[in-house]
Amino acid sequence: MEEQSLENLTLSQPLPLSQDSFRQLWENVVSSSISMPTDNPQETWQTGGLLLLNEQPFPEEFDENLFNLPDMSSKDGITPPASTVPVTSDYPGDYDFRLQFQKSGTAKSVTSTYSEILNKLYCQLDKTNPVEILVSKELPVGAVLRATAVYKKTEHVAEVVRRCPHHQNEEGTAENRSHLIRVEGSERAQYYEDLHTKRQSVTVPYEPPQLGSEMTTILLKFMCNSSCMGGMNRRPILTILTLETPEGHVLGRRCFEVRVCACPGRDRKTEEDNNNKSKTDTKPTKKRKSVPVMEQTSVKKSKSASSGEEDDKEIFVLHVRGRERYEMLKKINDGQELLEKENRSKKSSIKAPLPLPLPSSGKRLLRKEERSESD
Ligand SMILES: [Zn+2]
Repeated sequence: MEEQSLENLTLSQPLPLSQDSFRQLWENVVSSSISMPTDNPQETWQTGGLLLLNEQPFPEEFDENLFNLPDMSSKDGITPPASTVPVTSDYPGDYDFRLQFQKSGTAKSVTSTYSEILNKLYCQLDKTNPVEILVSKELPVGAVLRATAVYKKTEHVAEVVRRCPHHQNEEGTAENRSHLIRVEGSERAQYYEDLHTKRQSVTVPYEPPQLGSEMTTILLKFMCNSSCMGGMNRRPILTILTLETPEGHVLGRRCFEVRVCACPGRDRKTEEDNNNKSKTDTKPTKKRKSVPVMEQTSVKKSKSASSGEEDDKEIFVLHVRGRERYEMLKKINDGQELLEKENRSKKSSIKAPLPLPLPSSGKRLLRKEERSESD
């Protein structure tokens, strides 16, 4: 499952053939060869061989803090998501939370239509969008669904999505008049504005499917056009739907782009066509087979294991599905780059290929470096 899901990532480190799971990958890379220069060989690092951490097995889970090296964040351009910025990655969770949209096609007259290719909802201002909610098992009592809008592009993400002044004024003194997203058809919809982030959201209690149905439908409306001046101002937005316990603990999350426009059907068709075109233009083969390339380089690598980084200059492109996974793999790659850079400067003492830190040894590595710096 992960095999075709490694998208859009550049790794200069050739990967082993098997990518069945990240842990497997991790272990393969790690156990292949590790060496670290150390003043005291009796310490954790063992030159040229497998590293043993107090005789403990490798941890099951990847340590997120592993690559929190001092200057990482400034150099890789990824700012770790602050708590004030909503998470926009899909997370089905234990309840396999999913969304479905009705198939409305791209006729001129449709007021709401969803593109599966683009994961994007096209709708008219103030028109109903049925969103079907699916879960795999019974939810805790009092579970709610929350809809939040957020700007899609990084340069706008810090700004809160609100209606434009013109449309707000049209609604007079209504308390939720600045809210872009509305839930229709439920008296129990509640509108929130976060005290600290000022982000607006609307919740509605989750209702289990009615007898004979496997899904619940909620009705969303968007109260500004994407083009509204002083509002979205042509900036694309995402809608985040979270499934939460009454206490606000997130059980699942789904995210889709939204464009509010006069002609949803036409715009969807245009954008899907453009998407197809750009795909066929730039990528003649839809799914690149990366296996042969890797095979080749892994052989090369094992042959030239001692000849250093010269053979590792080749650039590979990985396609990764899902932002969370991408960021995780990017962290690893960045960590590799950093270590490589460091090692190039003290190359003389290194015989084996790129040293790799181990999951839970990351902290040890840090401590060691801290010490050597303070010494
Ligand atoms: Zn507006």
